[in-house]
Amino acid sequence: MTVELISVGTELLLGNIVNTNAAYLAEKCAALGLSCYFQTVVGDNEERLTLVLESAMERSDIVILSGGLGPTEDDLTKEVAAKVCGRALRVDENSMERIAEYFAGRDMEPTENNWKQAKVPEGAIVLDNDNGTAPGIILEDERASLILLPGPPGELAPMFEEKVVPYLEKRTPGVIASQTVKICGLGESKAETMVKDLIDSQTNPTIATYAKTGEVHIRVTAQAEGPKEARKLIKPVVKELKSRFGNHIYSTEEETTLEKAVVDLLLANHLTLACAESCTGGMLAARLINVPGVSEAFKAGFVTYSNKAKRKTLGVKKGTLQKHGAVSRETAEEMTKGTAFVTKADVTVSVTGIAGPDGGTPEKPVGLVYIGCNVKGDVTVKKFQFQGNRAKIRESAVSAALSLMRSCMLEYFSQVTFGKK
Ligand code: ATP
Ligand code: MG
Repeated sequence: MTVELISVGTELLLGNIVNTNAAYLAEKCAALGLSCYFQTVVGDNEERLTLVLESAMERSDIVILSGGLGPTEDDLTKEVAAKVCGRALRVDENSMERIAEYFAGRDMEPTENNWKQAKVPEGAIVLDNDNGTAPGIILEDERASLILLPGPPGELAPMFEEKVVPYLEKRTPGVIASQTVKICGLGESKAETMVKDLIDSQTNPTIATYAKTGEVHIRVTAQAEGPKEARKLIKPVVKELKSRFGNHIYSTEEETTLEKAVVDLLLANHLTLACAESCTGGMLAARLINVPGVSEAFKAGFVTYSNKAKRKTLGVKKGTLQKHGAVSRETAEEMTKGTAFVTKADVTVSVTGIAGPDGGTPEKPVGLVYIGCNVKGDVTVKKFQFQGNRAKIRESAVSAALSLMRSCMLEYFSQVTFGKK
């Protein structure tokens, strides 16, 4: 079954907004086992949208359109779709009520053009919008099925997840199920080499690796008659991956992020945490604090950017800074120890590095980062050399810090288990 995406919006053509909907939908459709051969961006123009839509319907089974369902004059996706399929627009009572409720709930008056959103093509399946006023629409035509979704990602994604996925699953023969094995602390090429034989011999399930900053995700996807059969195909492959990657796997759950895995580990072991950051400027603390429930563990985060702050807040010695510099193994170590002294947290992390673009030297190039981790007095400092621009280096440092925290904690627990502590 083939699917095709049409993103509608002149601001997309002008580059004013990034077409994140296309990336989102393409990834979701691939996971559902649908083949996508075409994606188009077209402006809010009746003639050109008609042209694009007609050719899409000729060559694809399902066409997903996003954007242009709004209340204004330039929103014409629904009108064009109805015309191309030869359907009249009629008022959908349920959508009418929902729009009235939406505005009443916000103590606002709908304007005349809001009611335009309650009109749907005859015979369409209406998808309620729980996060906005424009309903989604499925229009089944002989040539193809059209799925119209609102443009704002906060409306499109939940509608797709909750209403379109079940519709598509019903239409695809059998089911497609996938599981993602999430790996940290290993580079993509290394991870790929470790599963090259599996990738080369794959048929069903298929295995694909995706590189994220500081992480590698391996998605195992199976096609089968039912969900149970699909899971049965996936299970041995995931087991094999577990035996190959061991502790580098931080999760096999879709929703679990690296920071969540770290926080879960802290909470499960009743450990508290504090961090001291220089070049990452609070990004590490921000990622950790994104995780609900972290308040049980997170004590404090310091952004000690200047040498003075490193000395005054964390007690890093003047001599250490003078002799080895702010970006050094010694400073990272004193930062993490100082954080532990000041906060009494069980686990402390420090990050100090050169994010660039300036400030690099032959001995200490841009991208050099030292990360220190202290688990109840066991201190580890690691040196990293990251590539890329300032933003990329800082992001890489945060991911590496999370990975290091995780591995240091696991190492500490294993020593406790084996009675070395
Ligand atoms: P609205 O009721 O806001 O007009 P709509 O369904 O008509 O919604 P658009 O007018 O196309 O959708 O887009 C509304 C907003 O949604 C845009 O300003 C933009 O912020 C976001 N948006 C639209 N299309 C995309 C896209 N392809 N990727 C990311 N964001 C998008
Ligand atoms: Mg609009």
